Amino acid sequence: MNHTELAELLFPHIDKTPKYYETLYPERVLPEGAKVTRLGPSPTGFIHLGNLYGAFADERLAHRSGGVFFLRIEDTDEKREVEGAAETIISSLEYFGVTFDEGVTSEGERGIYGPYYQRARELIYQCYAKDLTARGLAYPCFCTEDQILLLREQQENSGENPGYYGSFARCRDLDLIDIKRNIAEGKPYVLRFRSAGDPGRSFQIIDGIRGLLSMPENFHDVVLLKQNGIPTYHFAHVVDDHLMRTTHVVRGEEWLSSLPVHVALFDAMGFAPPTYCHTTVLMKTENGNKRKLSKRKDPELSLNYYRSLGYHPKAVREYLLTILNSNYEEWRLANPQNPMEEFEFSTEKMSSSGTLFDLDKLNDVSKEVLVRLSDEEIYDFLLLWAKDHRPELVTLFTDKKEMLLRIFAMDRHGEKPRKDLIYCEQIFDYISYFFNDRFKVQDPYPEEVEKQDVLTILESYVNNYDHSDDRSIWFEKIRALSVKLGYAAKPNDYKKNPSLYKGHVGHVSTVIRIALTGRASSPDLWEIQQIMGEKQAMERIDKAVSTL
Ligand code: GLU
Repeated sequence: MNHTELAELLFPHIDKTPKYYETLYPERVLPEGAKVTRLGPSPTGFIHLGNLYGAFADERLAHRSGGVFFLRIEDTDEKREVEGAAETIISSLEYFGVTFDEGVTSEGERGIYGPYYQRARELIYQCYAKDLTARGLAYPCFCTEDQILLLREQQENSGENPGYYGSFARCRDLDLIDIKRNIAEGKPYVLRFRSAGDPGRSFQIIDGIRGLLSMPENFHDVVLLKQNGIPTYHFAHVVDDHLMRTTHVVRGEEWLSSLPVHVALFDAMGFAPPTYCHTTVLMKTENGNKRKLSKRKDPELSLNYYRSLGYHPKAVREYLLTILNSNYEEWRLANPQNPMEEFEFSTEKMSSSGTLFDLDKLNDVSKEVLVRLSDEEIYDFLLLWAKDHRPELVTLFTDKKEMLLRIFAMDRHGEKPRKDLIYCEQIFDYISYFFNDRFKVQDPYPEEVEKQDVLTILESYVNNYDHSDDRSIWFEKIRALSVKLGYAAKPNDYKKNPSLYKGHVGHVSTVIRIALTGRASSPDLWEIQQIMGEKQAMERIDKAVSTL
């Protein structure tokens, strides 16, 4: 077989050689140890937590090492493409602080290693395909889908490994005359890799996350170019990550099983493979069992879930780091104030056996992150969230800016700050008692206080209320009222001698708290009244009395 003639026959339109592209896309000039990573999403329009998890690892690896992180859109499958998907990917990731240095951006493509849309790279793939053909490492296969199905069936029945390989690969040794005839007849064909692998042999490779792996060699004549001349994932990955000079490929564990194919292709093409880092799937615990997060069952898999509820990107980032690197939490404890970017991220500390995602834990992390934000930052973020997700609240938030700032300042700046704020929807609900049209009584009055006493407490509270009382005078009045009605002046007195009292001062103030806020627990009540103003506070008490 004259392979050069075959290559010319299949790719007459390709006049470039691999050398041309090697020169066009030179090695990157980067500091020693700099990592080049990429995200290669398909433009399907759905971007999820798993993508963010991987993207965040890519971003950390590149940016901590002075390297480059780029976005390549893997659009070889037209059927799955959704309009505007690239923009969605970019803006979703940007929201969470994951930004690209190169590749597809919202303003077009940036960088000298493009085009960064795979479909625009058709001629590049074909150039390398031509080269492989000329070297006898690729051949056209005219088998129809039915023939391939039949082959698989026969292999299964006879207990053989299914696939197109060895003596089963009918088109592997077609001669040039047959190939020419088939082409002249207009028979469609794919281009296959002529594998030299042996199923009995294995090879070793170090995965950045999983360590040393031992895997069987690939022996399949995998498809490189589909009938329409568009590459398969395998071929595009090898050509692109070589020419774009990627050093680290972070991708989901679903690709682990094709690693032998990729290693064989890198080898056949004479390229050095990148460091592969196969991440694990995100799991959740349900009824005591671990299972994979599912698109259908788990709304929290979608990134939109976090945006629409108004999780602060810093909180999500912080949480992702805790599940990405097992030593992050320890670092955070030792460095409570340092920016998370200072953490030494490493793939070796990533889990290789299923990463547990836990919303409660995210909420806990979020509380810690939000307590470190200034009141202004919380306000600005809430307003931004409202603009995007709750436009009906924008006027309220704008009009009540001063009030909201005072609300956020409550009990958040002392030695033991309250950590009640988690995400915007929850924050708005949490402070909703400040707004009359959203106020509702959520908790019952304490059972230590009889209904008659509730009435007496509230009426006498209104009668003795002076908005200009400072916090201690105000509290002394509540204490005096408690004692007068038979409640202990201090919770401890009551605990020591419960039979002497109806309850204690805490129960009395809870009555007032519930009348004012509708809740048994709230930040400092005196401060709440100062923020509400006398009129609103007194109206609340009156309303509580009238509904008794
Ligand atoms: N396009 C592939 C996907 O959507 C990318 C895999 C990779 O990162 O190599 O899963």
